[in-house]
Amino acid sequence: MSRNLSLSFEFFPPQTAEGMQKLHATRKQLEVLKPEFFSVTFGAGGSTRDRTLETVSQIQADGYPAAPHLSCVGSTRDNIRAILQTYKSLGIKRIVALRGDLPSGMASTGEFQYANELIEFIRKESGNHFHLEVAAYPEYHPQAKSPRDDLDNFVRKVKAGADSAITQYFYNADSYFHFVEQCRKQGVTIPIVPGIMPIVKFSQLARFSDACGAEIPRWIRKTLESYGDDADAIKAFGEEVVTKLGERLLAGGAPGLHFYTLNQSAACLSICKNLGISPQ
Ligand code: FAD
Repeated sequence: MSRNLSLSFEFFPPQTAEGMQKLHATRKQLEVLKPEFFSVTFGAGGSTRDRTLETVSQIQADGYPAAPHLSCVGSTRDNIRAILQTYKSLGIKRIVALRGDLPSGMASTGEFQYANELIEFIRKESGNHFHLEVAAYPEYHPQAKSPRDDLDNFVRKVKAGADSAITQYFYNADSYFHFVEQCRKQGVTIPIVPGIMPIVKFSQLARFSDACGAEIPRWIRKTLESYGDDADAIKAFGEEVVTKLGERLLAGGAPGLHFYTLNQSAACLSICKNLGISPQ
């Protein structure tokens, strides 16, 4: 398989020193695939924000491009300005800019309400220093008033200065192709990279999917349910389903793959191997 594709892996910042060590080992295993970048998620609270910074600093220090996520929730113009300065000083060139989700008890996102406002602000502050990634939703964002509205909002983020997009995960390739087609009809030309969630644990996947509005097709859900606690069967089936999804996406013109790793390498490595994405 040609490596003319954008490959990236997403981590969450670990809470403990042990978690940090484990993530380091995971990253070393994935590094052989020479991804374009490793991204690190961002939470609403101060301590999780510090851990994002710590994690991206380590990745950059090891000579790999890190892409911190940054969200509107709890952010002010002043603290975003300070974060951008810190990221610049670390040599970071890419940011995943998001709205984020309000933790329970928090009434408003802060000085930025939607991701397009954050993108506009970053562009105003930093010009073209950062490559800006935004989120896209082939199955539509759960709070969107309508598919049309969600599409318009996505186009607004692109007009605000996004360079490329990463999608929420999905298991129905047609939703991705339909979404990309709709975007192209609106004149959107930026790459839209599918987000890939390996299937490892059914209960965890069901929980995430309920929260973010990603659909687990009935035949996948039913099959996973029927395996109960049989981790090997879930693993084999999950790898087969996600490999076939990846094959269809790449054959249909997807510009790359972004893996939601959940800080684990095994499933990502197997799927990449099945797809012919080999160590460089
Ligand atoms: P937006 O693009 O702002 O959209 C949010 C909703 O508002 C949509 O329904 C949209 O249609 C609507 N909308 C947008 N603009 C307007 C407008 N101007 N007027 C009215 N309605 C509007 N969350 C985190 O907290 N941390 C992370 O690190 C993180 N990483 C992610 C990475 C990826 C690749 C993805 C796909 C999601 C990630 N998320 C993360 C989750 C994300 O924050 C949530 O899905 C959130 O609910 C929406 O963020 P957004 O940037 O897509 O928001």
